[in-house]
Amino acid sequence: AVDKPVFKRVLLKISGEALSGDKHFGLDFDVIKSVCHVIKKCVEMGVEIGIVVGGGNFWRGTKDGGGKIERTRADHMGMMATVMNCLALADVLEQMDVSVRVQTALEIKAVAEPYIRLKADKHLKNGRVVIFGCGTGCPYFSTDTAAVLRAAEIEADVILLAKNIDGVYSADPKLDPNAVKYDTISYDEVLAQKLTVMDSTATSLSMDNHIPVILFALKDPENILRVITGEKIGTIVG
Ligand code: UDP
Repeated sequence: AVDKPVFKRVLLKISGEALSGDKHFGLDFDVIKSVCHVIKKCVEMGVEIGIVVGGGNFWRGTKDGGGKIERTRADHMGMMATVMNCLALADVLEQMDVSVRVQTALEIKAVAEPYIRLKADKHLKNGRVVIFGCGTGCPYFSTDTAAVLRAAEIEADVILLAKNIDGVYSADPKLDPNAVKYDTISYDEVLAQKLTVMDSTATSLSMDNHIPVILFALKDPENILRVITGEKIGTIVG
C-alpha cells in the first residue's frame, strides 16, 4: 500500500548544523542530498512544503560574535549565513527536478525573491518548495522563531522540527540515564517542566497560536516522510 500524507502543508525547520553532517561546520552535500531526496518524495505525494533553515553551521550571532562584535551586526551575519544554506538546498533540489523558490526576509534581490506571504502561498499551491531565508529578518530572534512565524503566516498544519535529538525528554538523556522520551506533551507541560523544545520566544509564539510541533531526529532523513505519513515517531508538542 502507498502511504498517504496526513498533512497538506508543512513547515520544515532544519538547523544549519544538520546540514554540516559530522563536520559541524560548512556543508555536507551527502547529507543535503539525502534530505532533498526525501523532500522530493514528499512533494511528489502532494504535500506543500515550506522550509526554514538555520545558519549555525556558519555563524551564530551570540556564540560566534559575542564580545567581539556588536550584537545586531553579529545577528546580521547569522541571517546572511542562513542564505548560504538556502541556496545550497535550493540548488540540490533543482538538480533533482524539484521546483523551488528562495524567499528572504531581508532583501537580496539579485540572489532570491523577497519574502512576500501571498507569493509564497501561491508557490506552495503550485507545488513549489519555498525556502525562507534570513530568519525573521530581525536581530535578537532565532530561526526557530522564524519557523513558527512562517508556519503561522502560511497556515501550515504542523511544524516539523528536524533535530539532532529524536524527541523531547524529561531530562537531558546524555546526562540523566533515567530520562524518558515523551510521545506527546502539551505546551503547558513544556513550560511547567522547563523543557527545551525550541527557545522560549519560539515556544511561546507557537503556543499562543496553537501550532503543533513534531520534533524528531534528522539523522535518518526518511523520518521526514515517516512523520508526514502519520507514523508516530519523535514527540508531538501541542
Ligand atoms: N538570526 C537572527 N534573526 C533571526 C534568525 C536568525 O538574527 O530571525 C541570526 C542569529 O544570529 C542566529 C543566526 O542568525 O544565531 C543563525 O540562526 P540560528 O542560530 O537560529 O540557526 P540554527 O541554530 O538553527 O542553525
